[in-house]
Order: sequence, then structure tokens, then C-alpha cells
Amino acid sequence: MSVCEYLESCPFFKDKIDNMPATSETLKKKFCLGDKSKCARYIIAKELGNQKVPVDLFPNQIYKAKEIIEREIKLKTKNKKFRK
Ligand code: SF4
Repeated sequence: MSVCEYLESCPFFKDKIDNMPATSETLKKKFCLGDKSKCARYIIAKELGNQKVPVDLFPNQIYKAKEIIEREIKLKTKNKKFRK
């Protein structure tokens, strides 16, 4: 495993999110310096692009990541139907 390539630009890693959780250092070790593939922010960035990652999303909020990705997929499918 390698450290996350978004370390330098990630608002979570750079402590730029309001109300950072008390466990933020643990989360950084677990996700940013550990297994980025399980990070909610990372998953959205890879699936939908960096611009779709909510600023205040924490790495362990995987359920939110799934919701956001599912919503985007539905929206894309809907838009495709209208274009036909
Ligand atoms: S929070 Fe996620 S996207 Fe940001 S640096 Fe850590 S692993 Fe990468």
C-alpha cells in the first residue's frame, strides 16, 4: 500500500475542515497513510472526480460516499434516457 496521492491537496489531511473529529489523527494513519482504497473521499474522487467530493466529508463516512455515487449514477442514467 502507498500513501494517498491527494495528501497535499486534501482538506481533511490538511485539517481544513470545520469540526475535525477527535479521532482525525487516527483516521489519517488508517486511511491517508494506510489504506486509501477504503477512504470515502478517495473513493468518490476516483469514481466521480475530485470536484464531487464534499468538502466536509470524513474518510470513514463510507455510507455517504455510496449514497453520492449511487445518486450520480442514477442522474447520469436519467440524463442518457432524455438524450435518446
Ligand atoms: S482523506 Fe482520503 S483522499 Fe484525503 S488524503 Fe486521506 S486517504 Fe487521501
